[in-house]
Amino acid sequence: MSEASRAACVIGWPVAHSRSPMIHNYWIRQHGIAGEYRREAVTAEDFVAFASDLAGHGYAGANITIPHKEAALAISQPDDRAKAVGAANTLWLDNGALRSTNTDVEGFLDNLDASAPGWDRELETALVLGAGGAARAIVFGLLGRGAKAVYVANRTLPRARALRERFGSAVHPVGWDEVGGLLASAGLLVNTTSLGMHGQPPLSVKVDDLPASAVVADIVYVPLETELLAAARRRGLRTADGLGMLLYQAVRAFSLFFGVRPEVTPELRAMVETDLQKGK
Ligand code: NAP
Repeated sequence: MSEASRAACVIGWPVAHSRSPMIHNYWIRQHGIAGEYRREAVTAEDFVAFASDLAGHGYAGANITIPHKEAALAISQPDDRAKAVGAANTLWLDNGALRSTNTDVEGFLDNLDASAPGWDRELETALVLGAGGAARAIVFGLLGRGAKAVYVANRTLPRARALRERFGSAVHPVGWDEVGGLLASAGLLVNTTSLGMHGQPPLSVKVDDLPASAVVADIVYVPLETELLAAARRRGLRTADGLGMLLYQAVRAFSLFFGVRPEVTPELRAMVETDLQKGK
């Protein structure tokens, strides 16, 4: 890796579906940077050896996707955010040290700020569906923005309870059957499950029961407009979609890898949208 030409990559298994190369290479071209962003298909078995020697593979940094986010945390010096979430999605070399962070937190928050400005003003209660890796980043982000109570509904209740243990008593773990009764008091509803994604079972939530001021976010981005978002829009509610989160989470990673803070432009969004529609 030379200063004249920098490279970064996304490491995952599988990794072929990742849109990160499209996003980062768009910004590399836009800013006229001598650099490249590639995919690296690395198995769980090989991950530690690969990621511990990013420089040896020619990389200044890497995004980390399924199933390596916990392993990435363990082999690096994480910042407070990655530590709190318990997973790292970005690794970078800082004067020889392998550091890590989790940009899903700001990806989610920045997308909400852009899509539904003021969404966190007087936010009392948020209802988060799902308690997996993405939910951990989102619950952490919501508490940081001052949500007074975050209800976490999950099919597997112990996973929701683990979020209360991690983040404290503002988190209220609930079973899936309690969702209907919580909608009327939710200022923000977030789907972090894979329900509603192409090839997965549908997500069934009665958005009509939400307050008229509620904001609805879905982090699933295939399809771009999930049934949940479509129903919320039909009702006139403000929404934030999964593609927005995907684009915003890449911003700080790019600046850590290439030293320039890029913008999420309508042109970039349109390019990734077209690609996602092709890949359906
Ligand atoms: P994960 O850790 O595997 O968690 C999956 C979650 O979905 C769990 O809460 C799981 O519940 C729930 N779930 C799965 N199938 C279900 C079903 N049939 N019924 C009820 N609940 C079900 O995955 P993740 O990393 O959090 O990702 C979740 C989704 O978010 C994926 O679709 C992923 O593509 C998307 N995502 C998007 C972005 C973005 O930038 N837009 C970023 C990260 C993730 P159990 O605990 O009961 O299994």
